[in-house]
Amino acid sequence: MSALKVGVLAVQGAFAEHCAIVRKLGAEAAEIRAVSDLEGIDALILPGGESTVQGKLLKELGLFSPLKNMIAQGLPVYGTCAGMILLAAEIENDSRRHFAVMDISVRRNAYGRQLGSTLIRGSFADMEDVPMPFIRAPYIYKTGTGVEILSRRQGFTTAVRQGKMLATAFHPEMTCDLRVHQYFLEMI
Ligand code: GLN
Repeated sequence: MSALKVGVLAVQGAFAEHCAIVRKLGAEAAEIRAVSDLEGIDALILPGGESTVQGKLLKELGLFSPLKNMIAQGLPVYGTCAGMILLAAEIENDSRRHFAVMDISVRRNAYGRQLGSTLIRGSFADMEDVPMPFIRAPYIYKTGTGVEILSRRQGFTTAVRQGKMLATAFHPEMTCDLRVHQYFLEMI
């Protein structure tokens, strides 16, 4: 069997780190910058960065509608931080909406703009002691019925799964711990 091919949106933000982890886990990583890059991908990662910039570039590059359709048709997707904002149906403090495919409501920059960036260790699904860098992170304040909560911090939800969609407010790609990406690859 050929290796899984994971597309990583590479228009802005921390895409290189995701590609490195995907390759460490034995899958192929394909940087996505154009519609032609979508050919043959088995899954998609939406990295952290700035959701407003990413949302704008997705539209300018013609990637928005093809990706939204692929996700709606069941392409497994993992959004970290800004990527989670792109997936959220509701953004409390922003009038913009992006893919809006996950039944979650998020608040951008929920822990403050800079001082809210921190590294903690916490549990994720059935894993303990997972390193979790939060960088101007959102949190999830509301989840729909089909959404499974995988992690919480200070009373707010920070990681969720809905069917083949995974989202974390934190950045496992900034650490050496491969377990969250391994969890995603197992979803595929
Ligand atoms: N604050 C960013 C946003 O709202 C997300 C930050 C991140 O991805 N690290 O898009």
